Amino acid sequence: SKEIGRNSFQLYKPAMNARSLERMAIENKLKQALKNNEFSLYYQPKIDSFTHQIVGAEALLRWHDSELGFISPANFIPLAEELGLIVDIDIWVINAVCKQIQQWQNKGIFDRRISANVSALHFTQGNLAQSVENALNIWQVDGRLLEIEITESSFIRSLEDAKKVLKALKQLGVSLSLDDFGTGYSALSYLARLPIDTLKIDASFVAKVPDEYGNSQIVKAIAAMAHSLELNLVAEGVEQAHQLAFLQELDCHAIQGYFFSKPLSVEQFELFCEAHRPA
Ligand code: C2E
Ligand code: CA
Ligand code: CA
Ligand code: CA
Repeated sequence: SKEIGRNSFQLYKPAMNARSLERMAIENKLKQALKNNEFSLYYQPKIDSFTHQIVGAEALLRWHDSELGFISPANFIPLAEELGLIVDIDIWVINAVCKQIQQWQNKGIFDRRISANVSALHFTQGNLAQSVENALNIWQVDGRLLEIEITESSFIRSLEDAKKVLKALKQLGVSLSLDDFGTGYSALSYLARLPIDTLKIDASFVAKVPDEYGNSQIVKAIAAMAHSLELNLVAEGVEQAHQLAFLQELDCHAIQGYFFSKPLSVEQFELFCEAHRPA
């Protein structure tokens, strides 16, 4: 009836307003975040499952707003993509990673490869290879010390266009890693056609090994495929010893996850490197 309609309207409207106001506030703050220097990078070690030494690291973006506190990239990256901010953010990340590579190399703290995540939109909205080349030049970094993590959605629109970008990155010496592997919907044929170096087994699969049979078989199949295509393999989201043991069995050398370390601030990462230096 009208009565109920009016009541539910009154109950619902303020909540809607609050939510859209909150979203607008986040949008406006995100638009200012780069300029206000509110982004930072955390670094998660990639560990050799057999020797337990650091073989690399992944840079993960953090946004701290003075009023909102820490906002998760899982929330603000999709928003940044919607608002057309992602290419600028990716460029900031690539430069910040290159700067950090240079600093750690000069100080003798870390000289392994560091990966940066880039949005699939960077393949259509910007010039990814040019952004990377510029950053390598500005910070005087050897391309072999940089890795770019992409997802399958980067080449769904045009495999040929993506291939050009990836080839240009390879020419700079940069490594290419396919993130969230196994969660996309594209045909696997692209794996043979694109110059990809590494598969990252998605955390959603890792979470369910070895207990869930079907899931474990998928991880086995991914590992077998990586080995036969001579691709490197990284498992993400490894939290438990029995997951690590299962992955070792499959000859998966590189491990990322809370079992060894959460993503670390620059200072924490330096301490971690100190503690894990080869004897
Ligand atoms: P991703 O690239 O798949 O990154 C892995 C996520 O898993 C990270 O979340 C990491 O902190 C988390 N993680 C690592 N080990 C474990 C574990 O053992 N257990 C659990 N439960 N989680 C673990 P984070 O940092 O919140 O990032 C979320 C996503 O946001 C990333 O997923 C990536 O898609 C995106 N992202 C993060 N940084 C950037 C960036 O600089 N640029 C772009 N374009 N996207 C980014
Ligand atoms: Ca990643
Ligand atoms: Ca993932
Ligand atoms: Ca991802």
